Amino acid sequence: MPGKRILILGGTGEARSLAAALLAAGYDAVTSLAGVTGDPLLPVGNVRRGGFGGSDGLSAYLRGAGIAAIIDATHPFATQISRNAEVAAAASDVALLRLERPAWEPQAGDNWTIALSASSAALALLPGARAFVTIGRKEVGEFFRRADISGVARMIEAPGVDVPPGWRLILQRPPFSLEHEVSIMAAHHITHVVAKNSGGGETEAKLAAARQLGLPVIMIARPVKPEVTSVATVGVAIDTLAGMLLP
Ligand code: NAP
Repeated sequence: MPGKRILILGGTGEARSLAAALLAAGYDAVTSLAGVTGDPLLPVGNVRRGGFGGSDGLSAYLRGAGIAAIIDATHPFATQISRNAEVAAAASDVALLRLERPAWEPQAGDNWTIALSASSAALALLPGARAFVTIGRKEVGEFFRRADISGVARMIEAPGVDVPPGWRLILQRPPFSLEHEVSIMAAHHITHVVAKNSGGGETEAKLAAARQLGLPVIMIARPVKPEVTSVATVGVAIDTLAGMLLP
């Protein structure tokens, strides 16, 4: 029902596309960002930044701002905010929909080891490995702690930990092309690629590059999120939302 105020839990490219689509469909959209990135790409429409203060704080925000529905478009690896959204939506009788891109699947020629966490991914690397670690800044310290491995860590903003000798930090924002990924892996004598199963097209080229170069991938599996109504595309999200808001 256009005109209603929708809270987008953001921090992803999908959330930015969703904000534009909701506005175009006549909704009043406000995107919430965690505020952890210093220079985030901003969506169109209203934006608020910073945590709500747990599920109770989110419930209070929903009431105060007159939110009719939440669309959780956070990253597949952001678990706490999705749990808070489920609790607050139920407590406040507000509709909740998740927009989540499908996970990547291994293809012919891939050599993936599935790890359940960043720490187990770090432990899966053999001594002497040259790793291309592409998991963001939060947990990269798990790899830096291993004195017997080295490599390249790529993220958007620098981590809050020291980069040990043997490691090269690359600060870059996606999207990345296949040629770019192949050249990084070749130039730095990479033996293993470490990735989170984020899904989506912007960072997928590293998997094709690993396939092309015959490199193994340590793939960190997605954490479990609450079971809520979920869709994979912005267009389906708009249609599903309309149904959820019918009187
Ligand atoms: P998280 O562990 O699920 O959340 C930690 C706390 O940060 C939440 O309890 C909440 O604080 C606050 N928070 C998280 N997302 C928020 C949002 N969109 N708006 C307002 N508060 C938010 O989240 P995370 O893994 O640190 O990710 C933080 C943000 O970065 C998310 O918006 C996510 O979409 C984005 N991101 C994450 C990753 C990743 O790999 N984790 C990758 C790319 C982008 P309160 O309890 O105080 O409300």
